[in-house]
Amino acid sequence: MGRVLSIVSQKGGVGKTTTAVNLAVAFARRGLKTLLIDADPQGAVRYGVGLRRGHPTVGFDDYLRGEKALREVILPTALPWLRVILAGSVSESADHSDFQHRVGESTVLADLLAMARERCHVVVVDTPPGLGAITRRVLAASQHVVVPLQCEPLALQTTPQILRAIQDVISINDELTLEGILLTMFEAGNPASERVVHYVREHLPQHLVFDTPIPRTPATADAFAAGQPVVLRNPADAASQAYVNIATRLAERLAERFA
Ligand code: ADP
Ligand code: MG
Repeated sequence: MGRVLSIVSQKGGVGKTTTAVNLAVAFARRGLKTLLIDADPQGAVRYGVGLRRGHPTVGFDDYLRGEKALREVILPTALPWLRVILAGSVSESADHSDFQHRVGESTVLADLLAMARERCHVVVVDTPPGLGAITRRVLAASQHVVVPLQCEPLALQTTPQILRAIQDVISINDELTLEGILLTMFEAGNPASERVVHYVREHLPQHLVFDTPIPRTPATADAFAAGQPVVLRNPADAASQAYVNIATRLAERLAERFA
């Protein structure tokens, strides 16, 4: 049985999708059979995972509505060990409330994740910002969660909320482990950025914070804009190396639990 790792944060724009995509790619490159699922109706995984442009927008939403079979929504990528389920048609529409409702009210997501665990080593799930119905459903069916925290001053205000919410879920899903807070878009020498790192290290238990922050690098944003994960496009970049480092540690922790 594989493991489900979800990437969750109260906030948008903190590097959830970047983290989900780059960790999934790094796992696949280690030879772990990996499935990346975009559970965010905005559908940003589509842009960062290196799928051909112009690929039809089929994905989770289409499966959920019974319009596509599962095998039709599991897409191959440039890497043999990485497959992806995009958000699907919902990402083309401005109104995501139906999708949220459908995911929140059904067991399809949980069933899909359970099925995926039978076939893969790791299932990485990207989630929408906040702790709405979708994210709660994802957490309820995950065994591991990583919380990206952007190194900017406002970040600290929402951290206690997300940690409380994850504690709530852990009380329902005792299989879930918070693997850690991942500091993202860190800028060495920027006082605001350094303050966040300092504060987090001071106030949170050491085992809850990854000791490698992901630096903010132009290559990361450029890669995303070019539709590719930075760990593939620019492996020597500092953010790529940090993601590979985190993926190595997570892969070791997850592998201990493969049944
Ligand atoms: P979220 O999924 O939490 O909304 P994203 O992963 O989409 O966040 O990241 C938000 C923006 O920040 C994107 O434009 C992305 O390219 C950029 N970004 C994320 N991580 C980095 C980084 N380490 N360095 C530079 N830009 C980054
Ligand atoms: Mg995102």
